[in-house]
Amino acid sequence: MGTEAESVILHVDMNNFFATVSCMMHPELAGKPVAVCGDIEKRHGIILAKNNLAKQRGVKTGSTIGEARFFCPDLQFLPPDGALYMEYSRRARDIYCGYTDRVESFGIDECWLDVTGSLRLFGDGVTIADDIRRRIREELGLTASVGVSYNKIFAKMGSDYRKPDATTLITRDNFRELLWPLPVDDLLFAGRATKKQLHLYGINTIGDLARADFAQIVSLLGKCGAGLWQFANGLDRTPVRTEDSAPPIKSIGNGTTAPRDLVSDEDVFITMRVLSDSVGARLRAARLRCRTVQIEIRDKHLSMLSRQCRVPYPTNLAGEILDAAFSLFRASYCWDMHNTPIRSLSVRAANLEPEDDGAQLSLDFDIGRHLRTEALERTMDGLRGRYGDRCIRSAVLYSDPSLSDFTPRTEQCF
Ligand SMILES: [Mg+2]
Repeated sequence: MGTEAESVILHVDMNNFFATVSCMMHPELAGKPVAVCGDIEKRHGIILAKNNLAKQRGVKTGSTIGEARFFCPDLQFLPPDGALYMEYSRRARDIYCGYTDRVESFGIDECWLDVTGSLRLFGDGVTIADDIRRRIREELGLTASVGVSYNKIFAKMGSDYRKPDATTLITRDNFRELLWPLPVDDLLFAGRATKKQLHLYGINTIGDLARADFAQIVSLLGKCGAGLWQFANGLDRTPVRTEDSAPPIKSIGNGTTAPRDLVSDEDVFITMRVLSDSVGARLRAARLRCRTVQIEIRDKHLSMLSRQCRVPYPTNLAGEILDAAFSLFRASYCWDMHNTPIRSLSVRAANLEPEDDGAQLSLDFDIGRHLRTEALERTMDGLRGRYGDRCIRSAVLYSDPSLSDFTPRTEQCF
């Protein structure tokens, strides 16, 4: 430790947030198993959250309504209430802001707080954490678990370590003992694929990763491996970002769970058309273009495939985004081989750059055609802005209205 004060960072995670907030609005459901899920009739019926009773009966987040009912026939359903969740999230944030102005949201129910500058006023990290937990309980009727540490990654792991309603302190002295025995995918940003890959090399726990040779991990996992190795060794130095230092938008995407299983190229094309229209319009509204298009495909068994490609030149046109997304799909999904219908899709524009940064347009690119299409899409944006999203649509969407009849923009709350 140098002369600089050691950072004190809290990660607050409200426990079982969505189900608890929803249930508070429905006291008549007290003592019953309850799940929050989307529109039952449109089959957006995937369990988004469940209360403890439902959990004990085997109801799992991500399963379908049918599966959940199989385990728990008397399961009660509530629709998600985005406005209510936002309200509780804001009230929690108001509590945090009483301790520090350095508050960074991570989803709707989690926040990091840098309280390094607040210790003299409010006591040490654990004291502040306990105080915040008490206030969330008393003022919001919710419980939270809080991790206290000297970096963001360990603070986050602390809030997972013991819950509900607990404070866990992870220090430079105890992190090996507490965190190293945990499975490696408990590390933030270490996904299933990474876990599998590391497993091949006998790296199963966070401690295994931390003790592995840095260069070897980098050669195995690239830049992302370097980050994970540092996290495992307590070397994360990312600052808590305050609202005004929010990073520029990194990507713009839209996804949907289709009202029925997608079983053909045409089904996928129609769905991607709606998603790409929205992504294009949002890019134009933000005055951005993308250099990369990404797609995500989730099949009936919720296994996921994601692919990305670079587009020939930066674009914010729905048609070009669609072309890229659909070619990616054709190149990566084989109906016969996967032999399973698709449940949800997303289209995302990444590698964004400002619109007026037009210098890099390549020479072989037909600028006249591009500008005409752009003018057309902007006219459509204007019409939709005035008369609603549905006033003008691609003809292909009418070939199966049951698939195209959704508004992707509103389906991103989770
Ligand atoms: Mg939570």
